[in-house]
Amino acid sequence: MTAPIILWFRQDLRLADHAALTAAVEKGVPIIPVFLWCPEEEGEWAPGAATRWWLYQSLGSLERALSEKGSRLVIRRTKDSAAELRKLIKESGATAVYWSRRYEPLIIARDQLIKQNLRDAGIEARSFNAALLVEPWDIQNNSGKPFQVFTPYWRKVSATLDLPKPLATPARIPTPPTWPVSTELDALKLLPKIHWYSGMQEAWRPGERGAMQHLGRFLDDSVANYGETRNLPAQTGTSRLSPHLHFGEISPRQIWHTAAKWRGSQFMAEIGWREFAHHLLYHFPRTTNEPLRLEYQKFPWRDDVKQLQAWQRGRTGVPLVDAGMRELWHTGWMHNRVRMVVASFLVKNLRLHWLEGARWFWDTLVDADLASNTLGWQWAAGCGADAAPYFRVFNPESQAEKFDPQSEYIQRWIGGDKNYPASPIVDLKESRAAAIAAWQTLRKPS
Ligand SMILES: Cc1cc2nc3c(=O)[nH]c(=O)nc-3n(C[C@H](O)[C@H](O)[C@H](O)COP(=O)(O)OP(=O)(O)OC[C@H]3O[C@@H](n4cnc5c(N)ncnc54)[C@H](O)[C@@H]3O)c2cc1C
Repeated sequence: MTAPIILWFRQDLRLADHAALTAAVEKGVPIIPVFLWCPEEEGEWAPGAATRWWLYQSLGSLERALSEKGSRLVIRRTKDSAAELRKLIKESGATAVYWSRRYEPLIIARDQLIKQNLRDAGIEARSFNAALLVEPWDIQNNSGKPFQVFTPYWRKVSATLDLPKPLATPARIPTPPTWPVSTELDALKLLPKIHWYSGMQEAWRPGERGAMQHLGRFLDDSVANYGETRNLPAQTGTSRLSPHLHFGEISPRQIWHTAAKWRGSQFMAEIGWREFAHHLLYHFPRTTNEPLRLEYQKFPWRDDVKQLQAWQRGRTGVPLVDAGMRELWHTGWMHNRVRMVVASFLVKNLRLHWLEGARWFWDTLVDADLASNTLGWQWAAGCGADAAPYFRVFNPESQAEKFDPQSEYIQRWIGGDKNYPASPIVDLKESRAAAIAAWQTLRKPS
């Protein structure tokens, strides 16, 4: 019998443009597709409630896609991925494990150890790129250092990128003579006990097919006007591909090629921000919990549970902020312009720690992604790479006038609320001044 290859699925939940799968198929041996659920290994940044909902749907979709190819997905719940892989190797007689890379600090450390241990045991262990246009270690500035500013980063990536065409979905996935035991997807208990996710169910179609359809629709209907409409939260002016990209249901390389006409566009630059976020996470892994700019460790953050809850529940009395927080709660997603506004309000007007915001987004966003969420929050707080300067405080009222001039978005989310707070929980002008004063304390020599 030919020894099988274990194909370890993680955040690469697709069959097309999947380098690890293609490499395994080319070997001409049986393939055992596996998914291991082990949130414990992800520490405090283990998937939150909204991404678990997405993962449940996406794994279901992957199971169906594999079964259309005559294959299966072996699912296991474990608290130790290395041990579970060893078990699977023993049960199946596999001599190789292939997977796609992830870039979160704890996952990198775990995967390196697994790779070493497997190789020491005589098992072939190979990892592949499935998530990025360019690996974070393959690009550096002219001084040989990681980039910390987006524009020169993206200029260099765009100028040097020479990407082969995406890989096709394999026509056949060879199967083993017997299958290792699999847990039912439902047994992972990814869905919350309380059925609060009907809004998400209406808004999204997780899975590879849904991702490609989504891209097609965006390219047909919206990309040409993206420059003008991408800042208008009442419209569907952006691609809404972020959760599909996070779970690897579509690759940035597929986008790069399918949208070849738009390579120099603002839309592709946003894909570039996602790349930049991964570049930063890889080179500055401590930033998931610490400011990139260390002087911000001394920032005098406030502590106010009531105000934090008002922000989380969309009850600050500031309409654009509350509309955004309600969109997030209801659909698991929030428009980028509004993300910037609600984040600025939390870290500047309320002066609550950016990590409070990052954690709430982590639990409620279907696209919660450690690279992009960390970058977004540090950008808003002024303490990250290429960040908004701390003294530039978004005014949520003028942002609403500019980007939601007919109040369409605000009405959609807070229109019917008879108990809507009569006044904001903070005075916008005073809190802005207090934020700038707090920031100035950082500039005084201690
Ligand atoms: C405070 C804050 C937190 C954020 N947290 C996340 C997060 O957890 N996960 C996440 O995917 N994005 C995050 N973003 C970035 C951005 O808001 C979303 O990627 C975007 O709104 C997704 O919508 P879209 O797919 O329609 O984007 P489009 O405008 O269509 O952009 C296409 C793709 O480019 C990428 N992209 C766009 N903008 C950014 C950006 N600023 N940073 C990184 N990638 C970007 C996304 O993958 C997106 O799908 C955050 C932004 C802020 C300000």
